[in-house]
Amino acid sequence: MTNATNQPVQRESELYIDGRWVPGGGADLEVENPATEEVTGVITQASTEDVANAVAAARKAFPAWSVTPVRERAAILRRVREILADRAEVFADLINREQGSPPRVARGLHVDTPIAVVDATIEALERFPFVTELGNSLIRREPVGVVAAITPWNLPLHQVVVKVVPALAAGATVVLKPAGLTPLAAFELARAFDSAGLPAGVFNLVPGSGRVVGDLLTRHRDVDQVSFTGSTPVGRTIAGVAAQTLKRVTLELGGKSASVVLTDATEEQLVRAVKVTVGNCFLNGGQTCTALSRLIVPEDRIAQVEELAAAAAAKYVPGSRLGPLISAEQRKEVASFLVPGAGGPAAVTVTSPVELPGRGHWVSPTVISRVDPDSRLAQEEVFGPVLSILAAGSDDEAVMIANNSIYGLGGAVWGDDETALTVAARLRTGQVDVNGGAFNPAAPFGGYKQSGTGREIGEHGIADVCEIKAVQR
Ligand code: NAP
Ligand code: MG
Repeated sequence: MTNATNQPVQRESELYIDGRWVPGGGADLEVENPATEEVTGVITQASTEDVANAVAAARKAFPAWSVTPVRERAAILRRVREILADRAEVFADLINREQGSPPRVARGLHVDTPIAVVDATIEALERFPFVTELGNSLIRREPVGVVAAITPWNLPLHQVVVKVVPALAAGATVVLKPAGLTPLAAFELARAFDSAGLPAGVFNLVPGSGRVVGDLLTRHRDVDQVSFTGSTPVGRTIAGVAAQTLKRVTLELGGKSASVVLTDATEEQLVRAVKVTVGNCFLNGGQTCTALSRLIVPEDRIAQVEELAAAAAAKYVPGSRLGPLISAEQRKEVASFLVPGAGGPAAVTVTSPVELPGRGHWVSPTVISRVDPDSRLAQEEVFGPVLSILAAGSDDEAVMIANNSIYGLGGAVWGDDETALTVAARLRTGQVDVNGGAFNPAAPFGGYKQSGTGREIGEHGIADVCEIKAVQR
């Protein structure tokens, strides 16, 4: 199948339920390429009955899967990993088309990172303390049962892998509802699970809208845990609905992460801080939940930081290093932060608009300085390539500004190693990178405050989908 300009259109009319591909009972849904606004896929959504069948299949598969030996589950996940690596270019191409990331970003960020997560999960599984002793008790960690995974469009493969792979490792069974804007990578992943020999019903794929399929899963009595990544408002709704059946919820929500340059930062550290923060903030078109979207710097160095940030931003050329936003709606939302006053009365834009492709949901990479910490721009998640620079009179004030947020997901600190570690401990967030510390695919990932609850990835991701039982002897 091809579209009007002869580009390929991926057609997915079947759902993966109980180890088989079955025709979907819901309406068809077109998938748009956000870089070109062309149709790049058509999927058939799940009906209410399909969702019921998927949950029933996961329920039925749970008793056997939950007691498979660890080495069997690890062997299957190793085969999944090999398939992902073999088909990395297929995944990258699908993600380039459905999510818009330029090919290099699609491959590195979107495919290689989740592969590293699978590796880390297998390693964590092989030494996971499923049974420990405490006095006369055996403390058993047992998989929770059926996990419903509901994922966003910003990282179509990674967000699925960080939920599904640790759940399967733990011995839980899964029903996945991927984002309607980017469902294609999830179909390819389902084929990988199938080829890897995952038993029937252990993983099930039911695409469809959040309001219908997501809501059905959240209400379902036979779903034991909802693992959700997405916006904070939808997270609140899901927590409320899940409360009716007192399901466990893992919520990975929004962020407004701060990168803090300390007063004792060397010239070299300052230069690196600006470069890394701009790159992190603009990664994936600014559409990452951990985006370092606030750069907090000593007042007396702000002019230099503005110059460095503007120069770094100029390297994010739309179409090569910078991708588009996911949708016309998201572009409108981001534009609402680029009006005078959004950053407070003293805010100044230090970048100039660049030329954008004629079609697609593009925005210019933008740096706004002297932003008021209480302004809408400093408080709300933009989810686009927009960096705010804020001035602090002291390190204490910088920490106060960093923590002045309803969110608590990521953060960064730059300066003397020891001082920076002390400041890292004072930030109320789930992650902090000190002097450019790299992403660790084995480390727990999640948020404080309204950035969510629960932890994903590695050993903590496995623990997150386990109940704890104490057996006394
Ligand atoms: P979203 O609107 O919250 O949607 C996320 C997922 O939830 C989608 O699959 C969506 O389905 C589904 N959904 C929507 N309403 C639902 C409901 N009432 N019940 C059950 N499911 C429902 O988020 P998004 O717009 O896709 O993603 C952007 C947001 O996600 C940003 O705010 C970002 O910060 C956050 N995010 C957080 C993290 C993290 O790890 N903390 C990672 C990435 C993104 P449909 O859209 O298909 O209808
Ligand atoms: Mg949405």
